[in-house]
Amino acid sequence: MRTVPGRTDAIVVIGAGLSGLSAALHLAGRGRRVTVVERGPGPGGRVGRLELDGYHLDTGPTVLTMPAILRDTFAAVGAEMAEYLPLRRLDPAYTACFADGSRLPVHSGAEAMTDAVRAFAGPAEAAGYRRLRTWLTRLYRAEFDRLVASNIDSPLGLVSRDLARVAALGGFRRLDPKISTFLRDERLRRVFTFQALYAGESPMRALALYAVIPYMDTVGGVYFPEGGIAALPRTLAAAAEAAGVQFCYGDGADVLERRGQRVSAVLTGSGDRIPCDALVLTGELPESYRLLGRAPRRPRRLSPAPSALVVHVGTDGDWPDVGHHTLSFGEAWASTFTELITDGRQMTDPSLLITRPTVSDPNLAPAGRHLFSILAPAPNLERGPIDWSRAAEPAATALLDEVRKRLLPGLETETSHVISPADWAARGMVAGTPFSYAHSFGQTGPFRPRNLPRGAENVVLAGAGTVPGVGVPTVLLSGRLAADRVTGPPSRTGTEGPR
Ligand SMILES: Cc1cc2nc3c(=O)[nH]c(=O)nc-3n(C[C@H](O)[C@H](O)[C@H](O)COP(=O)(O)OP(=O)(O)OC[C@H]3O[C@@H](n4cnc5c(N)ncnc54)[C@H](O)[C@@H]3O)c2cc1C
Repeated sequence: MRTVPGRTDAIVVIGAGLSGLSAALHLAGRGRRVTVVERGPGPGGRVGRLELDGYHLDTGPTVLTMPAILRDTFAAVGAEMAEYLPLRRLDPAYTACFADGSRLPVHSGAEAMTDAVRAFAGPAEAAGYRRLRTWLTRLYRAEFDRLVASNIDSPLGLVSRDLARVAALGGFRRLDPKISTFLRDERLRRVFTFQALYAGESPMRALALYAVIPYMDTVGGVYFPEGGIAALPRTLAAAAEAAGVQFCYGDGADVLERRGQRVSAVLTGSGDRIPCDALVLTGELPESYRLLGRAPRRPRRLSPAPSALVVHVGTDGDWPDVGHHTLSFGEAWASTFTELITDGRQMTDPSLLITRPTVSDPNLAPAGRHLFSILAPAPNLERGPIDWSRAAEPAATALLDEVRKRLLPGLETETSHVISPADWAARGMVAGTPFSYAHSFGQTGPFRPRNLPRGAENVVLAGAGTVPGVGVPTVLLSGRLAADRVTGPPSRTGTEGPR
């Protein structure tokens, strides 16, 4: 594995999103002096928090999976996750609601889910679910450690045995047809394929190897921390500070000072000069490449993932049978992905993720109130140049009407907050999407922008735009992979790699 050459004692990390926090923790745990420069007022980046009329809104991710990766991130500095961030598993992980009025609780426990599928669609489908679960688990084991959670220097660096194993499992077939070999019920197939959208793809086009994502939520489980998702960056930053990491908030990295092939210091907007032996950049790729003064040449432009329209609502209404996460499917399916991804239009009969965090932590709202966030896929601004300054309010109103029809009859909003692709763009996100570049095959694994960029030998990238990609567990891994590029991977005995 290639690593940063030369001295790496003092490291600057640009960005205190999850990837930057992870890089900082892993580097501090390996004895490096780490300074994190973040232009925002605190840690979190896309894992945002908005305080509104006594409601505490998580404006970023809601589906938290793979807690072991989070635990490893705390453990990098010898911290116990349980002390910083008590997590509980959500059961069910989701409730899937369909246009025909049927509902399915999606449990991550094998027996509970087999029973639920049997009650929902009969014994043959329950048997199919068990075979699917075995396949998902085998695929995850074949893929995750070697192909997702490792630094790969080039496509040729992929060990062919690993690829052969994924191919033998049908990983290079399309996702939806592959899942159909286990499940005949179209509603059930949606539950195990909608996650392709997390990767910015339609289930019909995505390769079956992306079934590692439905493994993460439907088998690995979905979790929630006390205090909401914003507790993640807050507690990771606290663990990093306790381990000696310095944080400079409210100041952006403006210019990189160079000496030969190396970056020797970061100059910030407020005029500070922070010397470094190595640098980790975690912002959007175009900004990182601008700072470096060099972007890689690619045969094709990178294609951004679809975006989202999110409506947060505080209400005094109560719907006791609505759980933490509801997947509300419309009647239409394949055509909605064509609308979103190919035509650049909003889904006319959308599938929605409706999150009600106050089921798990009532303190996120004033007493007796409830918080809902409704996420509707929306085209990114490159594919669908919609004027959201005019479209956002009517789209949010239509979305709430749809939600009243499907799930929350009589919903009255005490407070609400709408975030559209234009808002994501205003926060500097490429093509107005918070989900970075899509995980099409040509933008995944060794084909995703590398974390060792050209242009400076002591700079490493981390974050959603580079490897392994978008999502909480993956950007935490990207921070660890960046640290490995600086220090070499730590050996099993805990001693670090070359300096
Ligand atoms: C609405 C929404 C829903 C999501 N849902 C899920 C979900 O359910 N499950 C899931 O796993 N993932 C989800 N995600 C994705 C996940 O949140 C992101 O992939 C992840 O948080 C990105 O982390 P990051 O560190 O790469 O980037 P960021 O969080 O963007 O962090 C980068 C940081 O760098 C700072 N920065 C950039 N440039 C500079 C500079 N020059 N100087 C100083 N600071 C700088 C920025 O201010 C920012 O704080 C969701 C995201 C959003 C927004």
